Amino acid sequence: VLHNSLVELRGNIRVHCRIRPLLPFDSESDDPVLQILRHCFTLFSQETVLVKCDRPGHPLINKTYHFERVYGPAESQSVVFGDVRPLLTSLLDGYNVCVMAYGQTGSGKSYTMLGPRSDDGPVLPLDPQSDLGIIPRAAEELFRLISENPSRSPKVEVSIVEVYNNDIFDLLAKDTVAAVSGVKREVMTAKDGRTEVALLASEAVGSASKLMELVRGGLQLRAKHPTLVHADSSRSHLIITVTLTTAACSDSTADQACSATLPREQTEAGRAGRSRRTSQGASAPQLVPRDPAGHTEQVQARLQLVDLAGSECIGVSGVTGSALRETACINRSLAALADVLGALSEHRSHIPYRNSRLTHLLQDCLGNRFPPNPPRWDTTCPRTRAHTSSLHILEGHPC
Ligand code: ADP
Repeated sequence: VLHNSLVELRGNIRVHCRIRPLLPFDSESDDPVLQILRHCFTLFSQETVLVKCDRPGHPLINKTYHFERVYGPAESQSVVFGDVRPLLTSLLDGYNVCVMAYGQTGSGKSYTMLGPRSDDGPVLPLDPQSDLGIIPRAAEELFRLISENPSRSPKVEVSIVEVYNNDIFDLLAKDTVAAVSGVKREVMTAKDGRTEVALLASEAVGSASKLMELVRGGLQLRAKHPTLVHADSSRSHLIITVTLTTAACSDSTADQACSATLPREQTEAGRAGRSRRTSQGASAPQLVPRDPAGHTEQVQARLQLVDLAGSECIGVSGVTGSALRETACINRSLAALADVLGALSEHRSHIPYRNSRLTHLLQDCLGNRFPPNPPRWDTTCPRTRAHTSSLHILEGHPC
């Protein structure tokens, strides 16, 4: 879970691990990771996973991995979503949020993000109460939060792209070609520093069901190629971007209703005509220029929900020809993602977003602002979930 809002005194890049249950087809697979699971000893707690293997014929492994949170095979979709839910509140407060699923094919990324697959593809839950993944739950939660805060009624727009062989395809384009594969697009950096995809189709949505209808349509176009690892493996990265645009207060529009619309800090930032910088590369609420008619500035926040392509290695999946190229492209883009996350976590001055279209597309939500002297956390301060407090932290407030 990647999170650009410093809602709590935790890192704003958070890695959670989900261990899925063993399934019938696992026993037939010669995937080395599954062999480890079959022949080795795996223990997990809420925050660590221990993998131990000392059987003859297997490489010696004795490793402990640490995570923000580990979900065992019995943990439900709703428990996993419980950790994502607070990020939607941050989104409504104007922060960029990115939630992505990483893992090898068959490890449960699509199940976690969307829900179980059916003959019609994912997002058709067998049991609507328990099987829904993060994306449909996030859609519901977003519109629930909006309806609970009528004073904040952002415009909600959705765009869906897939990155396949390092090319970007617009999965919502109305073009006739789109009916087959999606239209190719190019990512670029706009004058204000934000990442834009030229000519990208986006649709305004007013409900969770409309949002999910678009997602289902986009999924129909997603490129797929069966590999030996998993008969229905996805070979592309899927990025669903939900953009919230809310009017901010300018001097001439500041009134009671306006100040109820956004947290105080954001409106002040708006008046000052600048966007704030946050620690660890997090980007503060983004102000976009006044609309042509008048006096209102806008705050935009983006939620990116990402189902990454499988991370298996070429030798294991047994692919050749064009599928080999696919796998090489996937591995290159995932390596670029690792480089970006590594650079962000080490507060490096240069973050190599442009090494791959995947990371360039995710730049705004991974954190495109980088302060020269990031504020230090004071871990003695009480944990708080209050959003205004998190903004105080960003301003170098003692807490
Ligand atoms: P990926 O997207 O990583 O390729 P999938 O999400 O398609 O993997 O999962 C592979 C299979 O495992 C699917 O049949 C899916 O329904 C099942 N699965 C994944 N995670 C779980 C889980 N937590 N509980 C039950 N079944 C799961």
